[in-house]
Amino acid sequence: MKQCIYADNAATTKLNKTAFDAMAPWLLDEYGNASQPYAFARKPKKALADARASIAACIGALPEEVFFTSGGTESDNWAIKGSAFADPQKRATITSAFEHHAILHSCAAIERLGYPVAYLTPTANGLISPESLKGMISNSTRLVSIMYANNEIGTIQPIKELCDIAHAHGALFHTDAVQAVGHVKIDVQELGVDLLSASAHKFNGPKGVGFLYIRKGTNIASYADGGAQESSRRAGTENVASIVGMAAALKENCDSIDSHITNTRSLESRLMDTLAKAHVPFVRNGGNCTLPGLISLSFAGADGEAILHRLDLVGISISTGSACNSTSTEISHVLQAINLDSVLAKGTIRISLGKNNTVEDVDSIAAALSKIVLG
Ligand code: PLP
Repeated sequence: MKQCIYADNAATTKLNKTAFDAMAPWLLDEYGNASQPYAFARKPKKALADARASIAACIGALPEEVFFTSGGTESDNWAIKGSAFADPQKRATITSAFEHHAILHSCAAIERLGYPVAYLTPTANGLISPESLKGMISNSTRLVSIMYANNEIGTIQPIKELCDIAHAHGALFHTDAVQAVGHVKIDVQELGVDLLSASAHKFNGPKGVGFLYIRKGTNIASYADGGAQESSRRAGTENVASIVGMAAALKENCDSIDSHITNTRSLESRLMDTLAKAHVPFVRNGGNCTLPGLISLSFAGADGEAILHRLDLVGISISTGSACNSTSTEISHVLQAINLDSVLAKGTIRISLGKNNTVEDVDSIAAALSKIVLG
């Protein structure tokens, strides 16, 4: 067995070597402030423009529609609060009960300021049905925000359909695509979304950097006041090295996305088949429309926390839910939202395979899990 088998890629991913190499010059020699007018600032300024264009090309956007942020949490905060604060007449937001806390807590913050927020309940399979949105949306809805793929159970939502419904009612549509960008093909034109959040460390880029896609002409309030960076909509000296690393990581992942999906799906099937052949009784959450490699498994009568710790003892890193929940022993809000039986919910773990996992990793995980669950 390898020293450590990392199977928690939904929490964070290993930095691509190309991204690391691309970052180094901007940390060491080319450290100029991109906003300054002199020659020493020209290279970082161009690096930012190139990174913006490269990221835009990966998601079918225009460069001026990509706004750099400090990561998924900030992008989500900006989308929710920026939308609410932009129009005092049209004040309502619709989201779902199983969003990431970056969305749910942003929604709670605008609710405290008097903006109404309504929460759609996912189906038992972890999907937001277009019919449920049709039943909730009204002409006072300003924003609908539904995640592209759930971070605990991996379900991919019918974003285009949901977005069309929002637009038919004159509302904007935001998707938190933090788990999906760099893992499945995303084209903002095809989806029709107005706002999309992404985070570099989820697609083999550096931590603490991300972006918000804002469709040209979309009216949302600025996020941070200060200097004129990011077209005066998100002030703060740009993190050039990380932004360059993010662009390099995204390009590498998008260029190899077909083989990534095929490899990860095959590892996923191998894990499921091996567990089934070993007669390990499990339930897979999220139906059959999930992110490649993201596997939520429930073992009736088992304790997810105990499984996590026993796997950790043999050098395998997995999760019981999302990273921000891992210190909580309560049933996660996602499993509650899909109304998972409490015995199953208590025995739930999340395995998230990534581009660096191998067949040997998966076989070791299956063997260790079988031993723990079957005793
Ligand atoms: N949204 C989703 C769906 C996530 O999974 C995460 C991180 O786990 C975030 C937002 C927050 O992203 P970041 O860690 O970049 O702040």
